[in-house]
Amino acid sequence: MIVVMNHGAKQEEIQRVIDRLTGAGFQIHLSEGVERTIIGAIGDKTRLSQLALEAMPGVDKLVPILQQFKLAGREFKEQGTVVKVGNISIGGEQLHVMAGPCAVESRGQLLEVAHEVKEAGATLLRGGAFKPRTSPYAFQGLEEEGLKILAEAREQTGLPIVTEVVDPRTVELVANYTDILQIGARNMQNFFLLKEVAKADKPVLLKRGPSATIEEWLMAAEYIMAGGNYNVILCERGIRTYETYTRNTLDLNAVPAVKNLSHLPVIVDPSHGTGKWKLVAPMARAAIAAGADGLMVEVHCSPAEAMSDGPQSLTPENFRVLMQEIRQIAPVMGRKLG
Ligand code: PEP
Ligand code: MN
Repeated sequence: MIVVMNHGAKQEEIQRVIDRLTGAGFQIHLSEGVERTIIGAIGDKTRLSQLALEAMPGVDKLVPILQQFKLAGREFKEQGTVVKVGNISIGGEQLHVMAGPCAVESRGQLLEVAHEVKEAGATLLRGGAFKPRTSPYAFQGLEEEGLKILAEAREQTGLPIVTEVVDPRTVELVANYTDILQIGARNMQNFFLLKEVAKADKPVLLKRGPSATIEEWLMAAEYIMAGGNYNVILCERGIRTYETYTRNTLDLNAVPAVKNLSHLPVIVDPSHGTGKWKLVAPMARAAIAAGADGLMVEVHCSPAEAMSDGPQSLTPENFRVLMQEIRQIAPVMGRKLG
C-alpha cells in the first residue's frame, strides 16, 4: 500500500502517519518527490482499515500496490531513479558506458586497457576479480589482488570501478575497493548474496539471470531495496533461448518493459548478450535506441589472448568506433554521452 500525502503536507503530518504505520508493524519506505511525499507501507494489509489513515491530516489517498515488486515498481515511485556514483549520475540525462576486460588478468593488462577505454570516452571501468566460470578448471580470477589492481587503475584514470561479488562472505572486502558491486547473472537469485549487498553502502548493478523472467529480475531488485539499498542499476545481458548461434539472446524488449514497470535505471550488456564481438556494436546501438541508460562492454587489448570471453571482446580500436556511434545516437534519444 502507498500513502500519497497532499502537496505541501507538513513534516509533522508525514511523521504522524509513519508513526501510526510503524506502530501497527508496517515497514516504511519513504519516497520524497519534488511534488509530494509518498509513504510505502509493507505489512499486513488487513490491519490498514483500523488505522483510518485517510482521515489523518495531510493524507491525500491510499493506493494499493498491485505488482509483486513494491519498492522497485513505478507505482511506488513515478520519477526515474538516478544512481550517483561519485560525480556520475546513472539514470538521468547522461548515458554511461562501463568498459573493460571480462577479467583482471594482470596489472599490465588492466592498466593498459583502462587508459584505452578512458581515452575512448568510457566513464566507468569494469573488470572481474572473482570470476564465476562454468568450468571449475577455468581461470577463477585474481581475487583480492585483482581488486587492488582495479583500485590502482581508478587512481590513474579517475574512472569509478564496477566489479563482481560472488559470495556473501566477501561483500565487505569487495565493497572496500569497488564503486559499484556487480551481481552476476548466475547469482541473480542468490538471495543470501542479495541480502548482503543490501547492507553495503555501495550501488548494486544487478544482472538479469540467464533464465529469469522480467518479474523475477525485479523481485531480485526488490530484495536489495527491501534490505535498505535503493541504489540498484538493472543490467540486461541476454537470456537463454533455443538459439545457439549466439551465446545468449539479448532481450531488448526488457528495456522498455522494465522502464514501464520500474523506476530503476537499466543498462545493457551486448557482450554477454551476443557472445560475438561483431554483434556487439550493432546491439549496443540498438540498446541506446531502445532507451537504455547505458552500456557495459567488454574490451581487451588482445582478445585472442584473453583468459575469458575473448570472442566477445572489442579491441580498443573497435571500442572507439562504437563510442563515436553512440555519441551520434545519444542526442537523437535526448541524451548526452556522460
Ligand atoms: C561478466 O560481467 O563478466 C559476467 C560474468 O557477466 P554475466 O554475469 O552477465 O554472465
Ligand atoms: Mn565476461
